[in-house]
Amino acid sequence: MRSESSSTARVFSERIPFNDLALQWREISRQALRDFEEVFAKSAFCLGPQVEAFEKEIAGFLGVEHAVAVNSGSSALHLAVVAANLGPGDEVLVPAHTFIATLWGVIYVGATPVLCDVDESTGTIDVDDAERRVTPRTRAIIPVHLYGQPADMDRVGHLARRPNLVVIEDAAQAIGARWNGRCVGTIGAIGCFSFYPGKNLGAAGEGGLVVTSDAAISERLRALRNHGQRERYVHAETGFNYRMDGLQAVVLRHKLKRISDWTEQRRALAARYQAALAGLPLDVPTARNQDHVWHLFVVRSTQRDRLRAWLEHAGIETGLHYPVPLHRQPCLAYVSPRRDSYPCADRWASEGLSLPLFYGMTIEQVDQVAGTIHDFFVCGRR
Ligand SMILES: *Cc1c(COP(=O)(O)O)cnc(C)c1O
Repeated sequence: MRSESSSTARVFSERIPFNDLALQWREISRQALRDFEEVFAKSAFCLGPQVEAFEKEIAGFLGVEHAVAVNSGSSALHLAVVAANLGPGDEVLVPAHTFIATLWGVIYVGATPVLCDVDESTGTIDVDDAERRVTPRTRAIIPVHLYGQPADMDRVGHLARRPNLVVIEDAAQAIGARWNGRCVGTIGAIGCFSFYPGKNLGAAGEGGLVVTSDAAISERLRALRNHGQRERYVHAETGFNYRMDGLQAVVLRHKLKRISDWTEQRRALAARYQAALAGLPLDVPTARNQDHVWHLFVVRSTQRDRLRAWLEHAGIETGLHYPVPLHRQPCLAYVSPRRDSYPCADRWASEGLSLPLFYGMTIEQVDQVAGTIHDFFVCGRR
């Protein structure tokens, strides 16, 4: 049932949610429940054989030597910063437009985040701007593969040719995305992933991963996540309890088998949005290459808030990622970034609107969302 009068938004009988994870669970539940039994039978709750198997499988999927499973993407980023030996006095280049967890680890170790503006068209770190903010104290850069789109790793790599400048990738939103054929997360010295439920590869709770091709770093990460122990009850350095749960590894192993198909579906949905939204007075996201994994489909409009209300009225749920850029976060005021030197980050924050795009969404639903946006620009704009 729909009403298409010229003065109101279409109203569909079924709401379109922003995400629906039940569709993923339906595909894996039978096998996952069987494997849960095994985890309970063996009491293999913290780390254990399922986690070890997951680490091997995801290392193979990503094409990286070492994968260390942890209990969140935030923990992964924290361990990466510890393993890179960053600390007080060190400066770390971070984009101003990202989820704040990108830089929590930098703050936890007492290093200084140096916020950089982002690329106008992709929202990923603007490497020219980052380069202008380099000082003799710059020790690391954390590019974020935002919304599933790889940051420009050629330019990041070029910047990182300076001595003592390590690249830590925040690939939390971009599992399986590639830059020049290589999976993001495996290009810099250390890569970090999140398995928060709504991520493209999501656990049934919290989860994360750190990857590296360096055996020594990987051994240290394994110790750090488990109280700093290489040997039981011997703590060589300050450690953390950042272990992955066995039950999460079960869910992730079954989802990993399907992630390539699920990503293909995301690409098809994104392509449909791009075609259906072409010609409207709003910025539609494009892929810099074919290996975008479309964690989010973020359009931009100067009328973002009114468009969002219009869609909400039509039963279409949307999201904001992220409405307050890092240079305007109260907890970062002490690093006193100049608030007016991030024009692109400000624009992404004030104009970005994330449309529904999830595994199991139908092309018809994409057309409904796009049609409702058309209506907004035809009759809802006044
Ligand atoms: C989700 C996310 C994180 C943090 O991951 P958690 O698993 O939620 O701790 C870090 N960075 C980015 C860009 C993210 O999207």
